[in-house]
Amino acid sequence: MQPPIQAYLDNLQRRLAGLNDGAVASYIPELTRADPAWFGICMATTDGVAYASGDADRQFTIQSISKPFVYAAALADRGVEFVGRKVGVEPSGDAFNSISLHPQTGAPLNPMINAGAIATTSLVNGATPEAQWERILQSMGAFVGRDLTVDEDVYRSESETGCRNRAIAWMLKNFGIIDGEPMASVENYFRQCSILVDCRDLAFMAATLANGGVHPRTGQRALSEEHVERVLSVMATCGMYDFAGSWLYEIGMPAKSGVGGGIIAVLPGRFGIGIFSPNLDLKGNSVRGIAVCRQLSKDFGLHLFSRKGSSGMALGRIYTAADAPSKRQPVGEMREFLNRQAYRIKYLCLHGYLAMGGMEYVIRRMIELAGETHSFILDMHQVDGITESAAAQLHEARLGFAEEGIAVVFSRIHGRKSIERPLSRTNPKNDHGYLSFEDNDIAVEWCENRLAGEALDSFATDVALADCLLLRDLPAALLARLEEVATTRKYFAGQKIITAGQASDESVFFLCSGHVSILVPLEDGAHQRIASLGPGMNFGEMVLLGQTTRSATVSADSEVVCRVLSSHDINRLAVDAPELKIALLENLSRDMAGKLRRATQWIAALA
Ligand code: GLN
Repeated sequence: MQPPIQAYLDNLQRRLAGLNDGAVASYIPELTRADPAWFGICMATTDGVAYASGDADRQFTIQSISKPFVYAAALADRGVEFVGRKVGVEPSGDAFNSISLHPQTGAPLNPMINAGAIATTSLVNGATPEAQWERILQSMGAFVGRDLTVDEDVYRSESETGCRNRAIAWMLKNFGIIDGEPMASVENYFRQCSILVDCRDLAFMAATLANGGVHPRTGQRALSEEHVERVLSVMATCGMYDFAGSWLYEIGMPAKSGVGGGIIAVLPGRFGIGIFSPNLDLKGNSVRGIAVCRQLSKDFGLHLFSRKGSSGMALGRIYTAADAPSKRQPVGEMREFLNRQAYRIKYLCLHGYLAMGGMEYVIRRMIELAGETHSFILDMHQVDGITESAAAQLHEARLGFAEEGIAVVFSRIHGRKSIERPLSRTNPKNDHGYLSFEDNDIAVEWCENRLAGEALDSFATDVALADCLLLRDLPAALLARLEEVATTRKYFAGQKIITAGQASDESVFFLCSGHVSILVPLEDGAHQRIASLGPGMNFGEMVLLGQTTRSATVSADSEVVCRVLSSHDINRLAVDAPELKIALLENLSRDMAGKLRRATQWIAALA
């Protein structure tokens, strides 16, 4: 099954590709060669999985996105205090190429504008400019997870035209911010801006920051935890230049853009985002890049200060129905069957506040387990709540698994509005709704029945009337009489067989092939599925006890064949053969006792 997050990104990429505002950077001549149509998105998780969409492998120059990473190297080499004396951490509110220096000290206001970045470049370890360049390449390479190269054409182009940046470097020399040769530092700065990356690289650089400084795939530490916090702080307040305030206000993630069209955004503890699209707005930020982040932040609740963005790991223990079978004591073949097959029923214990990041991980684990799984039970007992975006992802995954014949059911969410509400609000149209059980025992019993039902199907897909549970132990002569009066009815998948609240037509249904869902109408017009029945089972039997109104809706899940007996016929036959009525009522009370036992369990679970 394709992870829902992948479909989401593909969809987002397709939709925002229609956004053609802005223009490619032109003040560096070589950058005008970019095609405005290029557009890639990549998300990398802190455990090393990447979801990419569009032109994810197209290389471009990193430009200003190098700034936080070279700042990181300077912090690592010189310490927070020393670097702090040379470069401030105050948002300038000015454009990226402004000459924002502190009026007294001459220190650039922050390391994200060019002045601060050129100063930072001069600070990294290395006895010569060449050695400093090696240090920069090695440090950035650790964030990307591979060796890096420079686009020589872009480098040359910027070096030939970079008078303004040279002027800034001389100013920094004048104030004693740069100790060495300012023109050498500015060349290193041009080179670092010309490093080639793709948006997958950007996503991993961001994910390394999100992961406390350790690259999610290589496991190499690129930066200490303490310095990661500093880097993310300046990204949050200064990363988007004179758009930084609005960015934090609205989108709320530490981020950095570059005039090559790249943007990175970091969701600490969870994932990194890399986007590439060359058309820039007037502030030098990628137009589609901003649009992607805006949409992601909104859809997934990623704002730093939102509770929805703060979920940790959502998945606790995983175990199977072989470890914890239902309390029912199956006998004979069923027991043997379950002994062999129950491992295919998996319980996943979720916990915490389920948001998009945690959900992505849960669904990924489910996809990994899918090959040996027949049903998933999501035990929600320790879940505090779920965001609508996480709920929507879960529904999509549930439907995707259903197509592969894998059921996803919930347990222990009953009456908990913070879970039920987002789940029902995001339930897709034309879906019968999710199946939810009051406790794990009922859930696993349902899954066991479903598992056994499949085996039953493989032996005898079409069950005869005589094989139906309600008719067990009937004398053969009586069964033959019932066969004569029973009619056969066929239904197509999705067809309603019985409607809740309607007067009963006295029919008792014996399911001979296919599956049906028993649905109870909810107040808001939706339905809650309470059971799913397979061949050999019956429904509508309450008319035998004199019930005149149908209490639930029954809908065919597949093509269905039923044998139908009317209570009139049964009563008529029973006049001559009272043992018919007795056997039927005995079987019925056995079923009812089972249902009552389960109902008692529900009540106990609710108490
Ligand atoms: N190399 C570019 C410059 O210094 C980087 C600017 C940017 O990406 N915002 O002008």
